[in-house]
Amino acid sequence: PKINIAIDGPAGAGKSTVARLVAEKMGYIYVDTGAMYRAVTLKALESGLKDGPPEAISALARGLQIGLVPAKDGQRVSVNGDDVTDLIRSIEVNRTVSMVAQIEDVRKLLVDKQQHMAASKGVVMDGRDIGTQVLPDAEVKVFLTASARMRAERRYKEMDGTAMTLDELELDIQRRDRMDAEREVSPLMRADDAVLIDSTQLSIHQVVDHIIDLCKE
Ligand code: C5P
Repeated sequence: PKINIAIDGPAGAGKSTVARLVAEKMGYIYVDTGAMYRAVTLKALESGLKDGPPEAISALARGLQIGLVPAKDGQRVSVNGDDVTDLIRSIEVNRTVSMVAQIEDVRKLLVDKQQHMAASKGVVMDGRDIGTQVLPDAEVKVFLTASARMRAERRYKEMDGTAMTLDELELDIQRRDRMDAEREVSPLMRADDAVLIDSTQLSIHQVVDHIIDLCKE
């Protein structure tokens, strides 16, 4: 029988790469919840709502059709039919997403969508609150971490090294860790029953194999 797999952890720990590969190996669907928060953020920025009232952003979010479609090079993300895969990785979105993700109604809306996506099992979902809030009953829960430097290096490689330097990326990651941690209700929490994997010294494939092993237990 199919199960659900929850993968949480801080920015740049390798969650999305690992989750995608685990999904591929298991024949499961990969759901990148960070991409959903990013999609809402992109549209809020485009609509000039960045500094507007939270209600305006959550109202905007309710009108968005967010699509996650598996593709050869990962996953394509669309909003109301438009491909926004690259746009949601911009520096501007990086800077604003933690703020948008704090809006309670935005979280409620996206968590609800995510729970629907996982209702028939066979989903690998990555994010911050998957094991605790979105899928508390997931059969396998992983909390993936790595040092800030290692996380910056991985992001750097993903970005083709053009937009930001490695040091800037490390600072950006530390800043986002802090913002995520300082919130009154931080979404990033390790579920009591999540298996902790520190990937600083591990290859992607070692992490993937470890998770597949957990699924066999
Ligand atoms: O994983 P990614 O870096 O794309 O996530 C972008 C941001 O979205 C995070 O820094 C966090 O603020 C927010 N997020 C969240 N809950 C999730 C996934 C992402 O609050 N489940």
